[in-house]
Amino acid sequence: MFLRDLALTNYRNYGSLSLSFDERINLIVGNNAQGKTNLLESIYVLALAKSHRTAKDKELVSWRGDYAVIRGLVERRYGSTRLEIQLTNKGKKAKVNGLEQRKLSEYIGALNVVMFAPEDLAIVKGAPAQRRRFLDMEIGQVSPAYLYHLSNYNKVLAQRNQLLKDIAVKKGQSSEILLIWNTQLAKLTVKLLKKRFEFIRKLESWARDIHAGITDGKETLSLHYINSSPVTDEMEPHTAIEQILAALEQLFEREKLRGSTLIGPHRDDFSLQINGIDVQAYGSQGQQRTTALSLKLAEIELIKEEVGEYPILLLDDVLSELDENRQTLLLETIQDKVQTFVSTTGVEGLKHQVLQHAARFEVQEGKVRMEG
Ligand code: ATP
Ligand code: MG
Repeated sequence: MFLRDLALTNYRNYGSLSLSFDERINLIVGNNAQGKTNLLESIYVLALAKSHRTAKDKELVSWRGDYAVIRGLVERRYGSTRLEIQLTNKGKKAKVNGLEQRKLSEYIGALNVVMFAPEDLAIVKGAPAQRRRFLDMEIGQVSPAYLYHLSNYNKVLAQRNQLLKDIAVKKGQSSEILLIWNTQLAKLTVKLLKKRFEFIRKLESWARDIHAGITDGKETLSLHYINSSPVTDEMEPHTAIEQILAALEQLFEREKLRGSTLIGPHRDDFSLQINGIDVQAYGSQGQQRTTALSLKLAEIELIKEEVGEYPILLLDDVLSELDENRQTLLLETIQDKVQTFVSTTGVEGLKHQVLQHAARFEVQEGKVRMEG
């Protein structure tokens, strides 16, 4: 799939912008603070209805306006789709071919993207919450059902936590209601974990090969799901639900004291190991970066496997940071199959010959000029 056109209105530092892209590589060149990341971010938001940088949609709207619009034309094997995201102070609207989608889970998936930005090192080095966000965003874009269950899970979780607090101060709430929430929580946990286990398994099998390729077979990368609930991949759903309910019963006093739910997907994590050793704790800078790169390249293949077409790739400020071998490997992986947007402050660091034929866009103060 690829993004043919993009039009922005009042998005970040862009007033009004309309561009057509190359089906292969698009270079976005400009000095610092001109709008390169904003441009890539707008494509990410068009795909996922959410920014990779901020949870506050308000920040995406230009300071000079009170609403923002992103429009794009996506070409896929079986036809083209017009996508539109509108951001106003009343909330956001997502449209497919002009029709508003009531649930974001019905919108997401029309355009698949993989973004690789400096912040992605946090998937390897950062806190568990950052890895959970990675899991949720990535599974979500290939599985609308996952997004739907996740949104229900978060609602149940919030209600259950409130109830635990109410029980603690004896606000007349009965523990019977808690049992209802427990069952809901357990059922949704099982649904979410099934998808997460499967995702980690598939991502690992791709990432392992890619990582071995980058490191000349010296390093074996593995992924391990860290589970707060007593559920395994092999368990039947009804057994898993029973196990969770039993664990919640045991945890009741502690949860009441804390006023929060202590097990479930919102407390889980995954670890990355090279030759059996934890990358987060012991990996060198270079190993951590390579691991992040392997994960991103693995995601491209995983999306291809799941949806039947390659996603588009957004590389924000990362290509010139890679050494020549890794640049070559990355460019060979994507060559002729993945539409790619590469932002950079200068083309000097980008030597590979495939980049000579790339479309080139110069960004300056929220204006974009196509070169050549
Ligand atoms: P760098 O090379 O440093 O990464 P960049 O070209 O990627 O720079 P962007 O992150 O795209 O730069 O940001 C460009 C500018 O956009 C910022 O300097 C900021 O002032 C401006 N900006 C960010 N949000 C808004 C907004 N909501 N309204 C108007 N301008 C904004
Ligand atoms: Mg930037």
